[in-house]
Amino acid sequence: MISGILYPPRNYTPAEMAHEADSRMLQGLWDSIYKGNEYWITSSLFPPFYALSIDWSFVLIFTFIDLVLCDLPFFKNYKIQKDRKVTWPLIKKSIYLQFWNCMLWIFPVAAAQWCWVPPMELPKLAPTVFEFISQIAIYFFLFDMTYFWFHYIHHKNKTLYRWCHSVHHMYSSPFAAAAQHLHPFELFFVGGFITVIPWIFPTHPLTYWAWFLVAQLVSYEVHMGYDFPFALHRFFKYYSGAPAHDMHHLRPLTCFQPWLNYMDRLMGYHITYDDLKKMADEKNKRFGLYNKEDEEGLDKIN
Ligand SMILES: [Zn+2]
Ligand SMILES: [Zn+2]
Repeated sequence: MISGILYPPRNYTPAEMAHEADSRMLQGLWDSIYKGNEYWITSSLFPPFYALSIDWSFVLIFTFIDLVLCDLPFFKNYKIQKDRKVTWPLIKKSIYLQFWNCMLWIFPVAAAQWCWVPPMELPKLAPTVFEFISQIAIYFFLFDMTYFWFHYIHHKNKTLYRWCHSVHHMYSSPFAAAAQHLHPFELFFVGGFITVIPWIFPTHPLTYWAWFLVAQLVSYEVHMGYDFPFALHRFFKYYSGAPAHDMHHLRPLTCFQPWLNYMDRLMGYHITYDDLKKMADEKNKRFGLYNKEDEEGLDKIN
């Protein structure tokens, strides 16, 4: 996560700077974040520490829900795959892999950054609200599209699937810790996409960190295994949410797009749990071995 180097995109005179600082809505927030904390947040160790803290916070919260609160009616009701229970041995396997991914990539990269990357220079000016929202939206669309093709190719190419992406498909009923259950190669690319995509604009550190938080938040949301009544996909048809990615883990040749679903709809890969039920009913009607008469016949035989 390198940022702030190119921000602001042009030089301001002191008078312009004072005027801009007064007029920017995010200035107060930015001042409260960076003033007095420069030593910590300019350190080259801050980005990996920030990324891992987000990861482990989500894993801790949802592990607690899955292991302790899962039998409360609220969580039971909104669990997507109700017949599948998340157990500690499943979570432990995933945490074990993540530990080794940290040893292989994250800690060595953090150590290299600490040795060779100078502390970041923080801009005094906050981003404008327009910059902040529009840049995060653009990064969101770009990442979603990039990962869609990366993901699609990994499912269509047997060698790539077996060697790399099948690791992520070890779980057919996902849970939060499974979001980062990735082959090291996939982790390297996914982390790379998230890091590099914001380099297309002069990106303010606040925007960069918020983008990173959004990317993590959505990745954990689609893996959490719950379809809550306040979930975003209920209000935005083209946002995938947990049910679509859950479906991808259950039926890996459907719902390839990670965060949105317009490409899946366009290419015919968007399947919902209702579709699956309808298909099963249709199949049973056409080919079902056991209709009512069969069952009565079996009862007589037995
Ligand atoms: Zn997944
Ligand atoms: Zn997949």
